[in-house]
Amino acid sequence: NTGIVWFRRDLRLADHPALERALQSHDALLLVYIDEDDAPYSASRAWLRRSLAALAADIAMRGGELHVLAGDAEVLLPRLAADACASAVHISALHEPDADARDARIARRLSADGVAMRRAGGRMLTDADAVRTRAEAPYRVFTPFFKAALPTWRHRPRPAPERLACIGLPASLADAKRAIAAPKPAWDAAFFDRTLPGEAGAHARLRAFLDGLDAYPEHRDLPALDATSLLSPHLHFGEIGPGQVLQAARERGGPGAGKFIAELGWREFAYYVLQHWPASASGNFNPKFDTLPWRSDPAGLRAWRQGCTGVPLVDAGMRQLWRTGRMHNRVRMVVASWLTKHMGIHWREGAAWFLHTLVDADLANNALGWQWVAGTGVDAAPYFRIFNPVTQSRRFDPLGDYIRRWLPELAGLDATAIHAPWEAGIVVPGYPRRPIIDPAQGRADALARLKATG
Ligand code: FAD
Repeated sequence: NTGIVWFRRDLRLADHPALERALQSHDALLLVYIDEDDAPYSASRAWLRRSLAALAADIAMRGGELHVLAGDAEVLLPRLAADACASAVHISALHEPDADARDARIARRLSADGVAMRRAGGRMLTDADAVRTRAEAPYRVFTPFFKAALPTWRHRPRPAPERLACIGLPASLADAKRAIAAPKPAWDAAFFDRTLPGEAGAHARLRAFLDGLDAYPEHRDLPALDATSLLSPHLHFGEIGPGQVLQAARERGGPGAGKFIAELGWREFAYYVLQHWPASASGNFNPKFDTLPWRSDPAGLRAWRQGCTGVPLVDAGMRQLWRTGRMHNRVRMVVASWLTKHMGIHWREGAAWFLHTLVDADLANNALGWQWVAGTGVDAAPYFRIFNPVTQSRRFDPLGDYIRRWLPELAGLDATAIHAPWEAGIVVPGYPRRPIIDPAQGRADALARLKATG
């Protein structure tokens, strides 16, 4: 009696309800990952490649084997199930409407062959259907959502299995076996300085972060300090479950725990919004903003991507992103505001670049973040979120250390001049003389565009 476990974004062995159910229902398992991505190499694939290697090693230590296949899951899974004589395919739900609809299609296809698809949770703490306002409507604002959702988070994490009894890949599918290739040149080298993809790396990161949790509320907004958990790619790929992180934070307690748990709440909220309003992944949540006159500015967009806008905090963030696959949350807000407000470029352009370059690229979190900043999202507040990048820089990177780290050409500037060298009349060779958009003019233009939509 064989069961297939189809790993996707649940690349762990502990606290894995789908794996647990598969172990209870079958005496042998076929463990697969299907690589369906034929897009050009992006940062999160660099992470995924290492994460899969870690998972394969963890499985091998327990006597099992992970098979990484390349192809279309809709085609491969029925073949796999037939050729391995499997009675069920076990998955962890993704909670992304398009992906969930596809899973339902695959389930119907399998069921026609007499194979069951069993869907388990593990990726989210919130049941999106159960958390509703008194009027039975979904929440649109984070704080009331969080207040309603938090008491429902009662998950008890479970340990990893000690042994995994696995069967080999049916010979008929040997041609589909293909590991994800390493990028050439190895531009991802700096991605893994501080974090190690995989389940062990996720837990090590969580432990290290929790040691300093008390300082989190005070330091989390200061990009030079790196005081946040850096757990986002681990959570995205399911190397650690949100229930495990929640329990560890609750056990650790102290003044930082509440704030940190609220950030996990934002991840829950992002998926909640996406499930209730699927179109918000790529379109304005609020259709009122569909008439916003976005600017087309290919050269400006390129300068933003390359970190050559002439605004030091924006450029430092964009360079950090390119070099490391990460960007501090505060700086994400600043660069997103600069692109969508001062430059007037559609948030979808920025969101697409983030999905390409972030190691934690995540459809739900990214769309929520971009629409929050652009002001087109669930809690539309477009007028209030025009971040002044120079004020933000002075406030959150007062000594300029973050800027100096990512823009070495500005390293010689002192803490007064570094946030806006043009204001002090300083010209740095190799760095734009002044911002590509005058900050005051950009703000005025953004306000005018917003007013035009009524
Ligand atoms: P911590 O502060 O340690 O937070 C802990 C965890 O809570 C994070 O790992 C993350 O899973 C979750 N979290 C924290 N803040 C948010 C938030 N605002 N929204 C949703 N979840 C949150 N996050 C992604 O994971 N993927 C994305 O593609 C992404 N794109 C973003 C785009 C923009 C424009 C903005 C403003 C934010 C985006 N975020 C995204 C949210 C946030 O910036 C990152 O989750 C955070 O910087 C990750 O660092 P951390 O793990 O150290 O966070």
